[in-house]
Amino acid sequence: GQARADQRDVVRDLSRIEHAYDRLSLMRDLSKAIGNGEIFLQYQPKVHLRRQEIVSVEALVRWQHPQRGLILPGDFIPLAEESGKIGALTLWTIRQAIADQQVLAESGHDIPIFVNISGLLLADAEFVDQVCTMVRGVAAKVGFEITETAVIRDPECAIRHLRMFADIGVTLAIDDYGAGLSSLAYLKQLPARELKIDKMFVLELTSSNRDPLIVRSTIDLAHALDMEVTAEGVETPAAMALLSVMGCDMAQGFLISRPIAIGAMRQFLDEGRHL
Ligand code: C2E
Ligand code: CA
Ligand code: CA
Ligand code: CA
Repeated sequence: GQARADQRDVVRDLSRIEHAYDRLSLMRDLSKAIGNGEIFLQYQPKVHLRRQEIVSVEALVRWQHPQRGLILPGDFIPLAEESGKIGALTLWTIRQAIADQQVLAESGHDIPIFVNISGLLLADAEFVDQVCTMVRGVAAKVGFEITETAVIRDPECAIRHLRMFADIGVTLAIDDYGAGLSSLAYLKQLPARELKIDKMFVLELTSSNRDPLIVRSTIDLAHALDMEVTAEGVETPAAMALLSVMGCDMAQGFLISRPIAIGAMRQFLDEGRHL
């Protein structure tokens, strides 16, 4: 009856409050996480399918929380975006990636490291300035993957800022193709050289009827726009083979390697036994 329904409401409200509290406490922890050395990067390689070699790596941020253990970016990047911490976090990430790229270069693997840049930050002129200062001179060593966890409110401004990055020589990739900036209206205006197909279209590539159609038409579109295509979420040899046949340029996924620490990545590249 009514009492039961009220009780259910109370439980639901409580869990909502708990959830909100949880987010707040995580947000508070996040502001100290960088200074406490709790944030670190892992790297995942991208393989060029025709050249059969690793041509770049992607930096993926992780948070080793002292009480909660390992937290993945899906659980704190949105919080960082909401609380205004994403700029500081990203500047830290770019600086660390540049240092780690040096580690790879010194062992003979002078390939760029790609850093994820939240589309939200493309509205922030001060952030863009700071990044330009940081990467000028080492632009060939880094790339940016533009991710869209939040809606880009002013696409013209975002495109202007992307041009500044491209002008100093940073390679740009459009991440998670399908949303926002990667809509057809903007795609041709972007100074991006690479387009990444989201893993949601790749994970079931060889068992789905629709996904191969989407992937193939995306590859063709990107090539028509003179862009290279990376498929992420490549987990099986069958998916990798199909992507090769479809003319996809690069592949990334657990089949090749899980995200690993920079030292392990250097070893992985040294051993060269990934293909
Ligand atoms: P993303 O940029 O699309 O990164 C790919 C995600 O797919 C990563 O998850 C990676 O670990 C995972 N992945 C790679 N290969 C496979 C595979 O074969 N199978 C499956 N099932 N998954 C695979 P991760 O590390 O949890 O990152 C999630 C998202 O968080 C990233 O998605 C990116 O949007 C965001 N992110 C990560 N680092 C940063 C960062 O430094 N800044 C910003 N703004 N966002 C970041
Ligand atoms: Ca990415
Ligand atoms: Ca992606
Ligand atoms: Ca994604």
